[in-house]
Amino acid sequence: MKLQDTMLKELTEAPGVSGMEDAVRNIILDAIKDHVTDIRIDALGNILAVKKGIGKSQLRVLVAAHMDEVGFMVHGVDSDGMLKIRPVGGIDDRILPALRVEVGKKRIPGVIPWKPIHLSRDQSVQKIDNLRVDIGATSKSAAEGKVSIGDRVVFASETIELSDTVIRGKAFDDRAGCAELIKIIKGDPFPFDLLVAFTVQEEVGLRGASVLGESLKPDAAIVLETTACHEVPQDEDEPDVTTVTKLGHGPVISYMDRTTIAHPGLRKHFVATAESLKMPHQFRSPQYAGGTDAGTIHISTSGIPALTVSLPCRYLHSPFSILNLDDFAGGVKLVRQALMELKPEHLER
Ligand SMILES: [Zn+2]
Repeated sequence: MKLQDTMLKELTEAPGVSGMEDAVRNIILDAIKDHVTDIRIDALGNILAVKKGIGKSQLRVLVAAHMDEVGFMVHGVDSDGMLKIRPVGGIDDRILPALRVEVGKKRIPGVIPWKPIHLSRDQSVQKIDNLRVDIGATSKSAAEGKVSIGDRVVFASETIELSDTVIRGKAFDDRAGCAELIKIIKGDPFPFDLLVAFTVQEEVGLRGASVLGESLKPDAAIVLETTACHEVPQDEDEPDVTTVTKLGHGPVISYMDRTTIAHPGLRKHFVATAESLKMPHQFRSPQYAGGTDAGTIHISTSGIPALTVSLPCRYLHSPFSILNLDDFAGGVKLVRQALMELKPEHLER
C-alpha cells in the first residue's frame, strides 16, 4: 500500500487538537458521505453514521476511532508578544524545545523557544507549565491581532514516506485508526448494519466515546487505535520494553490496557481470524499501555463487549511518529474479515 492510497497524508496534516477537531471532521465527512446513512454530528462533535449491511444479521456492531490529537492551548500573551501555552493531552516536555508549531485556524507559524547553546549552562528542560510560542510578534498587541486565547497549537509536520512501507508524520494517533475506518466503510457491506463513530477528545480522557453506548446501544464495539512500540536500546535504569509491540509485525490485538480488559470472546475471535488469514499479528503487553476509547465504551449502558485493535507506532505524541503501511493494511484486513464472520456467540462470556 502506498501513502497516497491511505488518506493518511491529508488526515494527519490537518490540525485537530482535542475539542477543535473541525478540520479533521470535515475531511472525514467528505470521505464517507456517499458510503453511509444516518450521518450526524452529536453535541460533543462525534461523527456517527451507519454503513448499511446486507441484512442477514441483526447485530449492532460499532467501530470507532478518535479524531483528536495532542497539542496545546493558548492561555495568555506576554508583554513582548510571546504566547503562553498549556498542553492538551499527554506531552513529554523533553521533546518540545525548538519544535515548529502552528497556532489557530489560520495556522500561524511559530516555534517553541529554547536557549541557544551559547547562553545555556543549565541543560535542564523547561517545564511544560512555563512554555511559550514565538510567532515573531513584536508586541503584545501585535500577537493579539493574530491569535486569540483558547486557540489550539498543533505540531507542524509534513507526512512523508521514509521508504516503500514506512512513513513519518504527526497524529497517526489516531488518524491511522480514522483512515482504517474510512477504508472499512468504503469496502464490502457486512451481514449487519455497521455503526461507525469518529470520536472527539480521546486524548483528554476518552470523553467523546463516553456517550456512544447511550446513543448507539451497540452489542459490541471495536476500537481502532495506535499503540506504542519502541525498539531502541534502553538505559539500564529504564523499564524493560522488550514486551511492547514491534513495527512491521502486524496489527495489535489487546488483552489489557490501563482502562480495559478485552472481552474474551471478541479477542479469541480476532486472534482466530488473524490465524486463519495467516497474517502477522501481535499482542499488546499490559504493563506499558495507555487507555483507549474502549475504556469508556465497555462500561457504558449495561456493559458492552469491546476490543481494541491497534497499529504499532514509534514516537507517539510527537510531531515525528513512525508507522508501517503493511501494519496499516493488515489492520484493515483483520478487522474487515473478523467483522464479516462475527456471530452472536462470539459475544457470550
Ligand atoms: Zn489514541
